[in-house]
Amino acid sequence: MSDDATGDLDFNEITDKIKKHAKFEVCPFCQNKNWYILGGTGIDKGISRITITLSQFVPAYTLCCQSCGFVRQHVKEIIDGEIRPTEEKK
Ligand SMILES: [Zn+2]
Repeated sequence: MSDDATGDLDFNEITDKIKKHAKFEVCPFCQNKNWYILGGTGIDKGISRITITLSQFVPAYTLCCQSCGFVRQHVKEIIDGEIRPTEEKK
């Protein structure tokens, strides 16, 4: 089995989806441009969870800066277009 099991394809698919919603090419803390995607394997590949309460969580894409380790998360359902944002308060 290859060490490339994390696969660039999944990384590119996820980063392309995030780029439609957010600019993130440069880490805000160290200016590095390279990120890891943290997450599960198999059916959960590239997906992690944001814990809301002891019994509730939200699926998310988690990115980690390869230089300083800064971690950022994007709610999967929003990035994947499965839910739409409500009207913003102004
Ligand atoms: Zn960084």
